[in-house]
Amino acid sequence: MKKKLIYINTFGCQQNEADSETLLGIAEKRGYEATPHMEEADLILFNTCAVREHAELKALSTTGQLKHLKEKKKSLKIGVCGCMVQQEHRKEDIKQKYPYVDFVFGTNKIADFDRILSEVEKAKKRLFFVESYEENPGRIVEGLPVSRRYPYRAYVSIMSGCNNFCTYCIVPYVRGRERSRAPEAVYAEVEGLVKAGCREITLLGQNVNSYGKDLAEPYPFPRLLRRLCEIEGDFVIKFMTSHPKDATRELIDVMAASPKCERHFHLPLQSGSDGILKRMNRRYRFEDYYALVEYMKEKIPGISLTTDLIVGFPGETEEDFEATLEAMRRCRFDGVFSFVYSPRKGTPAAEYPDRVPDEVTKDRMARLLALQQTVQTENNARLLGKTLRCLCEGPSKTDAAFLSARTDGGRLVHFPIPENPPREGDFVHLKMSEARAIMLIGEFVS
Ligand code: SF4
Repeated sequence: MKKKLIYINTFGCQQNEADSETLLGIAEKRGYEATPHMEEADLILFNTCAVREHAELKALSTTGQLKHLKEKKKSLKIGVCGCMVQQEHRKEDIKQKYPYVDFVFGTNKIADFDRILSEVEKAKKRLFFVESYEENPGRIVEGLPVSRRYPYRAYVSIMSGCNNFCTYCIVPYVRGRERSRAPEAVYAEVEGLVKAGCREITLLGQNVNSYGKDLAEPYPFPRLLRRLCEIEGDFVIKFMTSHPKDATRELIDVMAASPKCERHFHLPLQSGSDGILKRMNRRYRFEDYYALVEYMKEKIPGISLTTDLIVGFPGETEEDFEATLEAMRRCRFDGVFSFVYSPRKGTPAAEYPDRVPDEVTKDRMARLLALQQTVQTENNARLLGKTLRCLCEGPSKTDAAFLSARTDGGRLVHFPIPENPPREGDFVHLKMSEARAIMLIGEFVS
């Protein structure tokens, strides 16, 4: 019998990508087959994001484009899931304005996807499976099937939810409170992946540094990381995201002691101004953050440090913004994910009165990007002449004569295709020959 085809479009972060791999795994077990072509699918699922308004508008406008597909193929089932529809007002938007969407489910229903599919397949009416985290706090379900996109690179969720309530952030409302997986379950999954040949494993959580605090027997994240690094095999382990108030020196010591830990730390700063950090409810001062950065640079020479910064948070003055620029000069980040503040309905900051005008935000963003470009080019230039072990990612997306790879610190390197080209997922040694702001050019050594 011909298999039904499923097309999943994932918006947003790595957690959503990991969720989509689980959703696809469940669907495949039910007899579906993934297709990259939306037009031929029997079931289309959009896994949405709510972190910024832009992500929501993109998901909604793409949902709007499905109307004509439904008109052409009446049997097509369309579903929307993820963080966006976990919010009541967005669920209502879908209900009222997108009548061709057949079903909707929230982030605490992923483990129920098989049952949801079974109901959707039989249903003659639209189905909405959305409950708030107060009604349904979500549960950790082990052993769900996962259909991974890459054989050599895997995401492993170690926890869900967040307890921090940064005033700008919607995540605690759409992902619930922190729930950690048992360390044995994480260990078994990582060990299985390594045995299957996986070379790069990323541990995921909204705040991985809080991992294990909610378990009956607390199990700190540095301990988990140390244990995972003891697994036999040639692999690299990464993690994200960290909260500066919970990232500890002990964690950095574990990273320094194990060559299996990626030489990269993503540590979101958000602002260099203590006043703004307080209004964000981040619960650290810039000097606390900087002390940690100094410690990690001392313990792990050459570590790559990346961060997130928000520009135009309500009440941000020129002085506050200057403090962010100064923080960038001192920390010398290797990468910055910078975002214009986006008010999220239901969060405290969305009610703050002193919004920064668009033209001011635009100007500040341009200044931030210009500074970062200079710092990043200088940082990359320091790698010139060095030979680094990198993970090959296959053909370059911009030049057919090149392959792409990532250094141990996550830096992108392009290198001319050698005579005996490595495969995607192979470790290669590349000598850095040219430095640009967003990437390096390398020569293949071995
Ligand atoms: S730590 Fe703050 S920014 Fe990160 S997910 Fe939790 S509330 Fe959001």
